Amino acid sequence: MKKDTALITAGRDKKYTGSAVNPKLSRASTIVFDTVAEMAQAGFDKNYQFDGGSQAAEYYGRRGTSTTLAFNDAMCELEGAVGSYVYPCGTAAITASLLSFLSAGDHLLMVDSVYEPTREFCQGTLARMGIDVSYYDPMIGKRISSLVQDNTKVIFLESPGSLTMEVQDVPSIVEAAKANSITTMIDNTYASPFNFRPLDFGVDVSIHSATKYLNGHSDVMLGVASANANAWPQLRDNSYELGQCASVDDIYTTLRGIRTLGVRMREHQANALKVASWLEKHDLVERVLHPAFESCPGYEFFQRDFSGANGLFSIVLRDANRKAVSAMLDDLVHFKMGFSWGGFESLILPVGSAPAKRAQAPWKLDSRLIRLHIGLEDSDDLIQDLSAGLERLREELTNA
Ligand SMILES: *Cc1c(COP(=O)(O)O)cnc(C)c1O
Repeated sequence: MKKDTALITAGRDKKYTGSAVNPKLSRASTIVFDTVAEMAQAGFDKNYQFDGGSQAAEYYGRRGTSTTLAFNDAMCELEGAVGSYVYPCGTAAITASLLSFLSAGDHLLMVDSVYEPTREFCQGTLARMGIDVSYYDPMIGKRISSLVQDNTKVIFLESPGSLTMEVQDVPSIVEAAKANSITTMIDNTYASPFNFRPLDFGVDVSIHSATKYLNGHSDVMLGVASANANAWPQLRDNSYELGQCASVDDIYTTLRGIRTLGVRMREHQANALKVASWLEKHDLVERVLHPAFESCPGYEFFQRDFSGANGLFSIVLRDANRKAVSAMLDDLVHFKMGFSWGGFESLILPVGSAPAKRAQAPWKLDSRLIRLHIGLEDSDDLIQDLSAGLERLREELTNA
């Protein structure tokens, strides 16, 4: 089945939808059983019944209702996974996945361009638990073998990297991991399963902030992790022990978002390419950091492994300071400043110090690095808005 069709059919088994188009919204804490035998069948044969896919049964609200099972089924189909688990947000999906596979004394190889809260979790909770973390250059490729220690249990990837967009050589890293029996997991939020399917490349766990494009409308927090047969039992059992679960209202809403993921992704991509190409030619812009631009580190891997981009990219201004950036951003009409991305609306973010904290190649650009998310507005309006903003930046720099 082609991927656009899969977005429409995924998780819409009749046992979830009845006679309606969409799976039913089923709110419940308690699931009730009529017989001891039914209860035992739903609950005790955990490995069979609680597989996060089409064999799963309702048992207790924390394990999810039929709405959750429909979503898990959909994610398994879209990611090519045997099991999927939902979490209350993307950060919870990342931390629970790491906690599921790491113990005191273990070593974790973490990509240096990782999402800032993931780094904070490594430096906080994981350090406190006696887990050793090394940060590797996102462009390391197969040279990652030289960083593997006897106690290395997990290699964590995120591609393209947060804020600076380096694209990783996923197959080379997976090959090195497999040679050393190391579990690989990837933050796949940028691509969504529509543009990259990590499990097809041998990654064990693919993680999403469903808050972003999967839901796509800036009104839900949700996370999901999808695993292959090697990783699924461990991810499932540990996530359940950790008490992870999510609201069925948020799950239902995200499942609805998935139906239009393809058309949204194509439109975000086309709009962002127009705006990014315009910015690249602007005299106040030094560089555009966009994985579909040849100048992006790992561009060749993006071309090889991904089927498309999205609305997200960054720019490096030639010159800036805090005051000039405020002049540029404060009066934008269509771009509001805010964290997150992946909704229908455009956003802009003065990046701040996160890339300066990197272990391997710290960025010293603070106020010159700006991240944009291009929404579904008309690109002419967005370009006009940015053009006026850049002129305010110029004026502030000239007068200073
Ligand atoms: C937003 C984001 C997250 C965290 O997701 P939340 O749902 O906000 O917790 C994780 N990784 C990436 C790449 C993100 O952009």
